[in-house]
Amino acid sequence: MKFSTKLIHSGQTHDPLTGALGVPIYQTSTYRQQSLDQFGKYDYARSDNPTREALEEAVAALEGGNRGFAFSSGMAAISSTLLIFSPGDHLVVCDDVYGGAYRVLTQIFSRLGIHSTFVDATSLEAIEAAIKPETRGIYLETPSNPLLKVTDLRGVAELARDRGIVTLVDNTFMTPYLQRPLELGCDIVLHSATKFINGHSDVICGLAVVKDSELGERIRFIQNGFGAIPGPQDCFLTLRGLKTLKVRMDQSQKSAAAIVDWLGSQQRVTRIHYPGLADHPGYAIQRSQTDGAGAVFSFELDSLETTRRLLEQSRLSAFAVSLGGVESIISYPARMSHAAVPPEERRRKGITDTLVRLSVGLEDPDDLIAEMDSIFKSNPV
Ligand SMILES: *Cc1c(COP(=O)(O)O)cnc(C)c1O
Repeated sequence: MKFSTKLIHSGQTHDPLTGALGVPIYQTSTYRQQSLDQFGKYDYARSDNPTREALEEAVAALEGGNRGFAFSSGMAAISSTLLIFSPGDHLVVCDDVYGGAYRVLTQIFSRLGIHSTFVDATSLEAIEAAIKPETRGIYLETPSNPLLKVTDLRGVAELARDRGIVTLVDNTFMTPYLQRPLELGCDIVLHSATKFINGHSDVICGLAVVKDSELGERIRFIQNGFGAIPGPQDCFLTLRGLKTLKVRMDQSQKSAAAIVDWLGSQQRVTRIHYPGLADHPGYAIQRSQTDGAGAVFSFELDSLETTRRLLEQSRLSAFAVSLGGVESIISYPARMSHAAVPPEERRRKGITDTLVRLSVGLEDPDDLIAEMDSIFKSNPV
């Protein structure tokens, strides 16, 4: 099946009781058992819920994996999955990793004896140099947040495979429509389904997908044991949002390209980070491992004053954290997604105080451009 057909049909067998097209919301915590000797497939809803299962099957099919797992948030998916590691294990992590992941790695997992080395993951040499005998995982985001740096996933998978290292990829920015890390040889895909997968800024949800069944069993054990699962209503909403992923992504990506093009001609814009630009350092790798550059980019402005005005005066783009919704969202990484990263560390990474990130929604790009144009023009240079 092609991707758009999978979006509509994977995991979504019609309800056997009524024939309902949508998977019902099984709002229950427990299930009546028939026999003392053998319990049914469902016994308690932390372990299994049909609505959650439909979402898990759908994302597994879309990512080209064998098993999907839903969690109560993207961070729950990330943190639960990281529990496959043990004290003494070492991780190599991309240096502009999502701020929340940075926080749990440096303040919680480090306390449990799981230490991380942060590297510029655009360089396979840097990743290789950071690998120690006790390295068990490589954790990546590509394109990364907020600087849209690109990592060669095939290259990393190859480095890791020979050494028995597990590769984890947070695929939130790309979604399986544009990038399928498992097909490139990586082991675990993670998602904040809160973003593009749900797509309507009304749910917090996370997902993990694997191909390997042994790894699947380990994550399943943690999902059930640790218990950071989403409720059925959120699974239903995420599934409903997921069905339109392709059409949303196509439109938002097209608009993002138009806006990037316009920003490139603006005096107040000093730099644009978007892997769809031919002069982006990761352009060739992005093209080789994805089906598009996505709908999120960041740019630097000429002054703090312009930055403040753009953020505070934007109406069509909401000044907010998050991304991947039908509404455009403009955010300020230094004080939002990356607030948990210490200021010196942040600047060293290139997350400057005039850096703005835009997640393009489904508004007409002409209107988004007109609004930015009027904000840029209404303020003295
Ligand atoms: C938002 C986000 C997360 C965290 O997801 P939540 O659903 O907010 O817990 C993780 N990774 C990336 C890339 C994100 O954008």
